[in-house]
Amino acid sequence: MSVTQPSAIIIGAGFTGCALAYDLAQRGFAVTVVERGELASGTSGRTHGLLHSGARYCVTDAEAAVECIQENIILRRIAKQCIEYNGGYFVALDDADLAYAPVFSQGAQACGIPVEEIGVKRALGTEPALNPNILAAYQVPDAAFDPLRLAMAFAASARRYGAKFNTYHDVVGFLRDGNGNICGISAVNRHSAQPVEFQADITVNATGAWAGKVAEIAGIPVPVRPTPGVMVAYEKRVTERVINRLCEPDDGDILLPQRRMAVIGTTSFEVEDADYIPVHPDQVKEMHKRAALLVPALVNIKMRGAYMSARPLIGGMMSGRSLSRTFKCYDHRTIDGVDGLVTVTGGKATTCRVMAEKTADLVCQKLGWQRVCETAQHPLADYHLYYQSTEVAA
Ligand SMILES: Cc1cc2nc3c(=O)[nH]c(=O)nc-3n(C[C@H](O)[C@H](O)[C@H](O)COP(=O)(O)OP(=O)(O)OC[C@H]3O[C@@H](n4cnc5c(N)ncnc54)[C@H](O)[C@@H]3O)c2cc1C
Repeated sequence: MSVTQPSAIIIGAGFTGCALAYDLAQRGFAVTVVERGELASGTSGRTHGLLHSGARYCVTDAEAAVECIQENIILRRIAKQCIEYNGGYFVALDDADLAYAPVFSQGAQACGIPVEEIGVKRALGTEPALNPNILAAYQVPDAAFDPLRLAMAFAASARRYGAKFNTYHDVVGFLRDGNGNICGISAVNRHSAQPVEFQADITVNATGAWAGKVAEIAGIPVPVRPTPGVMVAYEKRVTERVINRLCEPDDGDILLPQRRMAVIGTTSFEVEDADYIPVHPDQVKEMHKRAALLVPALVNIKMRGAYMSARPLIGGMMSGRSLSRTFKCYDHRTIDGVDGLVTVTGGKATTCRVMAEKTADLVCQKLGWQRVCETAQHPLADYHLYYQSTEVAA
């Protein structure tokens, strides 16, 4: 295709859609983002907030672990304003955890994740609220990020390159050209209840756990499994670092400091509809129990609330925790014979930038547009700028 300036519609303004808007706009695309709610009103605004070092996945999901450590390093550089680089500990609470330690060390080493055994005394000295009966402690480069600021920083960076954000626009249909290929979308403006259409050279479905539902509007199957998790927040910040249990990924294995709170997470179960996720009281109780194993003082600290959201996991024959945390881009021309539409889903908040990079590479290749990704090289725009009128970057 020979175009002077290619155009792209991105459906969804979570981390993935915002990072992709920045990447494509920076590569010279005219970008239109269409989001049915507010920025980060899907899973991204209700995530745990752990900038993964990858250590959580280094034994069971090496592909995701390597993506996490690589992106952890990049995001700490380009998104400093959104990240509290506090580091993390993996702590053993029983013999089974201790037995996992050698596999964990080997896995981390194989994935390029710097892990150091620091000893119980040092761990308790630096984190006095930790369970005093821990048997071992390892240090990893985890961090905590502010979800809303991260999405806004990517969106502000996209707006600097001219991207337009249409929030409160619900995508309800796809426009087709004479060959049956997709050339745009139809949406409902939820402020005015009026129908509206947008046209572009390419449309990207970046709707996370809703990617299957949105693709279905075009009659295209995408095997995404909405896999929710429940998190419980406490009124007090009890540790300075991220505290992980030294075990395979499990319920309630990560306790995170978020500003002045502590947040334990998560559970993992499947639902049909990502728009209706119950917060089961028994899951909240279980989170509370597991949080208190890591930091006993939490028993007496008031819960601030429980919340949930759905992971967009790529389905297959497996389910739940056995599904990989990696991501996938689908070119619906090669898979389903429908051109003009790409879907990106799966992944983690931590890997949203590289998800955007790979998707933008695919989009550029499809349109014959030769611009390389530069998003790993420059700090993101100040997140406050998302709400200010902006000019196209020089
Ligand atoms: C419980 C839980 C804890 C997690 N914790 C972490 C963590 O600590 N660290 C980490 O790295 N990752 C974590 N993740 C994963 C991470 O949060 C997700 O991978 C990420 O937020 C997905 O972003 P996204 O942009 O792909 O999807 P979303 O944020 O869900 O964005 C999709 C958007 O599409 C919009 N949309 C849907 N349908 C339509 C439509 N018809 N028209 C227009 N717009 C539409 C939605 O409103 C939504 O805003 C966690 C996930 C869960 C569930």
